[in-house]
Parts: sequence; C-alpha cells; structure tokens
Amino acid sequence: MTYSTLKNLILSKRPDIAIFEIARAYEFAKKAHMGQKRFSGEAYVEHPLQVAQILLGLNPDLATLQASILHDIPENTDVSLFDIEKEFGREVAILVEGVAKLSLVKIRPEDNENAEAERWRRLFLALAKDVRIVLIKLADRIHNMRTLEFVPAEKRERIARETLLVYSAVASRLGIYSFKSELEDLAFFYLYPKEFSALSGQLAEYRKKSKECMAYATSQVKKLLKKEGIPFKDVQGRMKHLFSIFQKMEKKDAQSFESIYDVFAVRIVLPDLPAEGKEKFAHIYHVLSLLHGAYEPLPDRLKDYIAVPKQNGYQSLHTTVLGVGGDVYAEPTEIQIRTLGMHEQAEIGVASHWSYKLGLKKGASSDEEDDQVFVLTPKKALMELPRGATPIDFAYSVHTEVGNKMVGARVNGKVVPLEYELKSGEVVEIITRNNGKPSQYWESIAKTSSARNKIRNYFKGLPDAVENIDDKKDLVLLENTSGKKKNKVVALEEDSPLRLVKKVIVSGLPDLPVTLSACCKPRPPSPIVAYVTRGHFLRIHRLSCRCLAHLDGDRFISAGWKK
Ligand code: MN
Repeated sequence: MTYSTLKNLILSKRPDIAIFEIARAYEFAKKAHMGQKRFSGEAYVEHPLQVAQILLGLNPDLATLQASILHDIPENTDVSLFDIEKEFGREVAILVEGVAKLSLVKIRPEDNENAEAERWRRLFLALAKDVRIVLIKLADRIHNMRTLEFVPAEKRERIARETLLVYSAVASRLGIYSFKSELEDLAFFYLYPKEFSALSGQLAEYRKKSKECMAYATSQVKKLLKKEGIPFKDVQGRMKHLFSIFQKMEKKDAQSFESIYDVFAVRIVLPDLPAEGKEKFAHIYHVLSLLHGAYEPLPDRLKDYIAVPKQNGYQSLHTTVLGVGGDVYAEPTEIQIRTLGMHEQAEIGVASHWSYKLGLKKGASSDEEDDQVFVLTPKKALMELPRGATPIDFAYSVHTEVGNKMVGARVNGKVVPLEYELKSGEVVEIITRNNGKPSQYWESIAKTSSARNKIRNYFKGLPDAVENIDDKKDLVLLENTSGKKKNKVVALEEDSPLRLVKKVIVSGLPDLPVTLSACCKPRPPSPIVAYVTRGHFLRIHRLSCRCLAHLDGDRFISAGWKK
C-alpha cells in the first residue's frame, strides 16, 4: 500500500480529517523507519500505513490515525516518544506510548485457555487507559496476522494462539465484530490447518448455492416490506465467518455445517426512530410480525437481543423461518432485524458511539478492572492483585515461603521499597534469602488479608489454614525453574523464581505445599519423610537424614514419591 492509496481513502471516507496532518505523520514515520524491512521484505512503513487503513473502518479521529502511523517508532527506532510528543503533541504521544505498553501482553505456552487467558485479556484492557489504544493495537494485530506467513514458522503458533485467546476475545468484548471475525479466521487458519481447509472446501460449494438463495430471500423480504409500505435502509445476506461455524459445529458435535441454521442469514436494517422508550423499537417488532405472518417461524428460535442485549451491547431481533428461500432453498433461514444504529454497534462496537475522549474506565466494557492490578513475574506469568497491593502482597500470593523469605523487591529491574504500590504491567521480582524472615510491621503494609494472615501466622508459629493452601491446589511442590526444565524437583534456592509441581504424596495431607530439604537433597526412590515447618508447609527429608534427630518428633508425617 502506498501513502497515496491511504490518502485517497481518507479523503473519500473522512473529508473532515486534515489530510496534511496525516501526511506529516507519514513523512515522520518513513524517516524513522528508513532502511527497516518487515519479514515480508517490504519497507517497514508499509505496516503502519496498513494499520491506519484497517482503523479507517472504525471512524477514527485524527489523533488515532496519527498514532497508528507512528505506533512502532519508539520500540523499533532511535526516535523517542519525546520526539513524537514535540512533533505531534501530548495526546498522540500518550496513544503511542499506550500501544507500546500493550506489548507486555504475551501469553506463554503453559497459559491455559480459561483462567490465564482471561487475566491476559483483563491486563490488556487495564493497560489501555484509552479505548483508542486498544483499537490501534487490534488493528496492528490484524495486519500482523495477515502477514504471519512471513514470520518464522516456530513463532507462528504462539502468535496465532495469543490472537485467538486475547485479541479476538477483546474485540468481541468491545463488540467490534468486524475485527473479531477477521482475527478469528486468521488464527483458525494457523491453529487448525486441517479443519480450516476441510471446512472452507465444504463451504466453497455451499457458497455458490447460498448466494443464489440469499439473493432470492432478500428480494422476497424487500418485496414484502415494500408491499406493506415499511421504510428500510437495507436488506442484505450475511455469511457467518468460518471460525464461528467451526465453533458451532464443535459445540453441537455436528458432522456437517448444514445442520446449523444460521450459516447464512438475511439481515433487515431499519431506520432509527426519533421516538423514546418502547416506541423506538415498535417498527422492528412490527416487521417481525409481518414476517411471521408470511412465513412459518420455527419454534424456540426467536431471540430478542433488543429487550435483553448481549453483554457487549449487541442488539437485534433474530428469528428463523421456513420458505423464504423459495424452491432454491427449503431449509430454515435466519432473519435478523435491527436499526441502523444497532447495526453499527454490532459491526464496530464501542467505536460506534465513542466520544473519542472516553477512557475505557468510563466504557461499558471494563468496570471489572477497577479494583485490580495485573503484574508479571520475572517469567512473565500474570498475577492479579487488588489495587494498592505491595511487593509483600505479591510475594505472599506467589507462595507463603517466598513471602517469609523475602528481603527486598525489584520492579522493572529497580529496587523498590516494600511499601511500593504496584501498577498494572509491572514486572515484579522478589529477592529472597534462605535466612530471610518477615517483619511484624509488614502486616500494616500488606493490602491483602491473605498476606496479613500469613504474616500473623508466622509470628504465632502457626501453619497456614488448610483452606488457604487449597486455593492453590496446583501449587504443591517447589521447583527451581531458573535453569532449563527439570524432571526432578529440587529445593527452593535463593532468588530463584518458583514453579510448583506435584511429585510427592504425603499421607493425609495431599495438597499441602511441599519442598525438598537442602540438607539431604532427597531424590526418588530413596525413602523420605515430611516435616511440618514452622511457616506453613512440608519439608521432605531422606529418612536417613542426620538433621532429623534435631527436629520436633511430633511434626513428622509419612511421605512417599509419586509413581
Ligand atoms: Mn506494529
């Protein structure tokens, strides 16, 4: 894409935008990225131009367009954010900075689809203080996915998975259907290549047939509306996108997509009425009754998303009728009825009614982020803490023993006081020592009751309540992950990031956190015993360990290795 293509598009679609301001951003980006190439071999500046073009569909404002053209400069060139601010002002600089921040969102292979992915999505939304930042980043990902074939093969799957788990889900949450469907289909292609090609093969055939059918059905509906004197904006056929068909088939365990009634649908777009209250939608329900008079509706297929909108704001009336496809297509056909306003909302979601200054915090989408911060471990695992949380809360939520042995903390590589208030997106590293121990005054700093309880328990010499430990069922045995992945578990080492695995069975208390003692370094298959430590967990010793003689005999529990 050349700059003049983008320029002409903006001139025709958005004559309100000062085109010389776009030209200025383009010249600036071209100079900054001079000599850089994409994996595809194209000049780098091609990418931001494409991102701007993708954004055009969402009716962006000038600052958003400029920021989209400048978005990769601070990360990839010698030109700084400060230079951008000098040249384009604070608003544009804040947007560019926000886009760069979102690069922190990087799912790892071990992150599962549910809890972890949901946290990444929420970090994504929490980091973007302004909805425009999210839109630029989504458009950026769309272009990166369109060109994913040029990226080294070993990177593709992770990027595609992240796209599906985080980006398309965020687009869906914000109601931007056009972005969501493209992101999903692109990810589908890379993640499920076999299923993708099988389904698109089947659909190619079906498309020919359904095109005729859609043409027939839309003409029938138009005829009916005209006969009844109903004004309408548009009657169109729409095809469900591939991934959505795939998901629906999986859900229904369907062998063929032909059992899915809404692979294609007829969409009736009506004008918005200036009326208030129920009157506003009276014409939609009137059209529904006309359709039900003319065609046989299927029972249980009426969905009223006007009375009860979807969570992302989607509104429409869906019904499924027989016979509207005529002789060409005898199957049930879904008909969607909505106003133009609802249609825009469905296609571009938040972007359809944004006041551009609207921060995400005021948006409908992200109230839930208000009380949380999302921070990262050095291994880039995501932790969710209440707002105001300190490194002490972080340490105790990783593991009680990390808290109890903490001697300091680093945030983004810099040592911070323990009172430091953590902010979303920061990387937090806890410095531990084997002889470290908590201080009583930590209790007054900690924000979470769980950290406070653990500190209190330490000073009372009590083990933590079993419920506390049950919360972290997967956190059972400490493993040092600072080296490469190990098969065997090793004892907690100083300053080592922790991961917990299950390798030991302890009689009666299978879910207590367990660590291996450094004194005798137990290894399978040597016989072992568990000792309840003063903190909260179990330390495994060899039965032959000489330390045992010095320990409290009442605190031993029998233990063995998992097969
Ligand atoms: Mn980019």
